[in-house]
Amino acid sequence: MGLYNYTIHQLQELIAGKEVTAKELLDSFLENIENVEEEVKAYITITEGEARSRIEQGLQGKLAGIPIAVKDNISTEGIKTTCASRILEDYVPPFDATVIRRLKEEGAVIIGKNNLDEFAMGSSTENSAFFPTRNPRNTDYVPGGSSGGSAAAVAAGEAAGALGSDTGGSVRQPASFCGIVGLKPTYGSISRYGLAAFASSLDQIGIFSRDVEDTAILLNVLTGYDPLDSTSAKLQHPDYTDFLKDELEGMKIALPEEYFSVDMDPEVRECVITAVRKLEEAGAEIEEVRLSGLKYALAAYYIISSAEASSNLARYDGVRYGYRFSNARGINEMYEKSRKEFGDEVKRRILFGTYVLSSGKYEDYYLKAQKARKQLTEEIQNLFREYHLLVSPATPTTAFKLGAVKDPFEMDQTGIFTVAANLSGIPAISIPCGVDSRNLPVGIQIMGPHFQEGRLIQAAYSLENILGFKDPGYCGRYCHEQKL
Ligand code: GLN
Repeated sequence: MGLYNYTIHQLQELIAGKEVTAKELLDSFLENIENVEEEVKAYITITEGEARSRIEQGLQGKLAGIPIAVKDNISTEGIKTTCASRILEDYVPPFDATVIRRLKEEGAVIIGKNNLDEFAMGSSTENSAFFPTRNPRNTDYVPGGSSGGSAAAVAAGEAAGALGSDTGGSVRQPASFCGIVGLKPTYGSISRYGLAAFASSLDQIGIFSRDVEDTAILLNVLTGYDPLDSTSAKLQHPDYTDFLKDELEGMKIALPEEYFSVDMDPEVRECVITAVRKLEEAGAEIEEVRLSGLKYALAAYYIISSAEASSNLARYDGVRYGYRFSNARGINEMYEKSRKEFGDEVKRRILFGTYVLSSGKYEDYYLKAQKARKQLTEEIQNLFREYHLLVSPATPTTAFKLGAVKDPFEMDQTGIFTVAANLSGIPAISIPCGVDSRNLPVGIQIMGPHFQEGRLIQAAYSLENILGFKDPGYCGRYCHEQKL
């Protein structure tokens, strides 16, 4: 097995024991990229030159020599950061996002920038202005989105771990589609300084990894107060690797009925229920509960996220930021022709967001959505007075074929199980729990109270051990014929 298929904790041991050098590691990943990237297309930019020169300088820290991929809406100094948009096609930021600084301080090697749905709007990575990414498990299928490039990079052994952003599920959903682990931490626990804003009250940087232990390792590096992000929590974070224990005894887990009664793929439901039964056998107490506010979650999410996007994306006007159409006769034509470069999905959200904020409509939509958000958050917080965790499927279906979902409303449905965690700010993780009859991965979602990532990690780690589900790495175009 190539080094590119190892987990971060395995690679850390090899590096610490001087069994491999950072250069050998990078070479192994780059060689694999060379073999698979043409098919998978996880990257917009591969930063081989920067990676090599960093290694030559000598690296130290917890992640010394570990190749990490980064979603292309996270700012990297001197490296193009496009948000997969024509508007930012040539933008080279003069600064690093805080998460990049933290990774670099621990010796990580940024290996490239991943494809995404333009400005993180979408669920399949087909909305990238450049090209779609494919699911490494079966390249006829989408990897999910919007962080599809980051998920595919990890699943295909093109990076040891990756950063994504999750506004309504964009880390957990692609992790689930690609059969890896995806964590959206609590709002405020990882700095968002340098993340291109989509919907500021929901956006959170998240982590992709091959297993739960790697998630804990990356979380330790990434969390912590940042004065550059006004929503960053002033809080001492624990060592998350202390929660890597196989212990479910006494853990009270709630299954909100609404997560299982909606229209969903019966194979997904069965797979998740089987995993829940195993949690029970291992000592967890499982109870069905009601979460009635969930029925408004998706609608509230699209109203609030589009409203915030319409305001956040106003800055790309050809003057302050982004592409400028330079042959215009007058300012109106300049605005118009510059902003024309946004893709259809981004335009749709800006229009919708502007509409729900307009006078006369504001009370009917935006205000109602905020009320639904508040009610849902309170309901979730009440559940956490009695239960340690909530469990649900991560997505209502497994991956779909490229081009199969054309209706944007149908596409939005894939976020039905993930948006509640963003609306309420709680942490949520998706881990693989099996495969469907097409051998495509199914993800189970575990949600916990604010800043209780440790508890999430403990449950996810235990479940991962019980299920014995291990990421096999990339095995080529016909990966799906190989049983996971
Ligand atoms: N699918 C959701 C959307 O399109 C999620 C996006 C996200 O989390 N960035 O808005």
